Amino acid sequence: PAGVPAPLPVLGRDVTVPLVTGGEVTYAALDYAASAPALQRVWDDVAAYAPYYGSVHRGAGYLSQLSTDLFENARLTVAEFLDCRAEDQVVFTRSTTDSLNLLAAALPAGCEVFVFETEHHAALLPWRGARVTFLDAPRTPYEAVDTLERALAARDTDAPALVCVTGASNVTGELWPVRGLAAAAHAHGARIVLDAAQLAPHHPVSVQDLDVDWVAFSGHKLYAPFGSGVLAGRADWLTAAEPYLAGGGASRRVARRADGGVDVEWHEGAARHEAGSPNVIGVHALASACKALTEAGWDTLVTRENHLIDRVRAGLADVPEVRVLSLFGEDAPRVGVLSFVVEGWNSSHFAAALSAEYGIGVRDGLFCAHPLVRTLLGGDPESQGECGAPEAAPGEKSLNAIRVSFGAGTPDEHVDRFVRAVRELVSEGAKWEYRTRDGRCVP
Ligand code: PMP
Repeated sequence: PAGVPAPLPVLGRDVTVPLVTGGEVTYAALDYAASAPALQRVWDDVAAYAPYYGSVHRGAGYLSQLSTDLFENARLTVAEFLDCRAEDQVVFTRSTTDSLNLLAAALPAGCEVFVFETEHHAALLPWRGARVTFLDAPRTPYEAVDTLERALAARDTDAPALVCVTGASNVTGELWPVRGLAAAAHAHGARIVLDAAQLAPHHPVSVQDLDVDWVAFSGHKLYAPFGSGVLAGRADWLTAAEPYLAGGGASRRVARRADGGVDVEWHEGAARHEAGSPNVIGVHALASACKALTEAGWDTLVTRENHLIDRVRAGLADVPEVRVLSLFGEDAPRVGVLSFVVEGWNSSHFAAALSAEYGIGVRDGLFCAHPLVRTLLGGDPESQGECGAPEAAPGEKSLNAIRVSFGAGTPDEHVDRFVRAVRELVSEGAKWEYRTRDGRCVP
């Protein structure tokens, strides 16, 4: 449509998949929140570099120097992408999960952690060994800040504290009040880490503007391939901590002691937590994606995504059988991530039908955020099944949900096909058996 920016070229645009009804159709990848297709530009950058890659850091050859420059320049690109403070550190990891586990391993002694029960498991679970306070699901952004304020104000120690919060929910797509939460954390002497796995692919993230202490995100949700992630932010806790992995690259000097043991002097910078040969290609791809998004322009990207969100919302609005899941209200600001249940349908069957009949790839289940999805579905926490399991019998309340998610590479046709598919499936009802992923046949 006039005035709406075009999608960015991504891999897989022309992939066709078979339909159960016969024939084939181009695949509509609507599971960006799990992993987004790589940008063509990222793939081209990787292909251009691939013949030249070599060992990094202590390789003396020309290609090693080239690769080392590329790897270290990627840090600068990411720091710029996140608008980091001059003194911040960018550590390359495998993923958001890895980044948050790294931070969890670097908590100072006695650190308390505050986390909303609504978080993705990657943000909910890494804090083993710390005293963790799980905060109740808020029903408004204001309530989120208020809940955190109260919990921090009720602390009975002046031990260090960390708040971990998502920027955009991987279930509802709703934006969280990060600035307000950061202000509340800092007002009570706590630090805050932002899980930007879902925010960074959809909106600009400024460490300085949001005033967060750390940011974590994953390359594979940001239009780069799998295998790279980032933890960026304050250096002090990271420098004081034992290395996340012990090994080459993290150690500056290793020597046998007279008593037979080994003395190790660890690096202080990002290398301290990057032992082993790094994922140079993955980091290059991640930096390339950061540049591509910046060059495309956030105004353009957000305009395009809001256009897609409006189309999906409008398309589902007058289907009474569809219930969109939300904490902050269906009209709350969100990214291109939307979960829902369909009255009369088991969510797993519905997702299977979208794939089999329309060539649409969505996700069903509890989205690695079990407490949140259970809260949103209003179910009995004791009677819930595993991620993706089709537990509800026909006519019963859904125990899992369907998630549609999209972004910079999504053409209008994909969301339009999705809306049409939902409407048709709802009006026609289930037509035949679906086989669940564990091979069971469901009538
Ligand atoms: N946090 C959020 C909000 C997520 O959506 C995800 C991925 N679904 C993660 C963390 C974990 O990311 P990764 O699997 O790349 O480690």
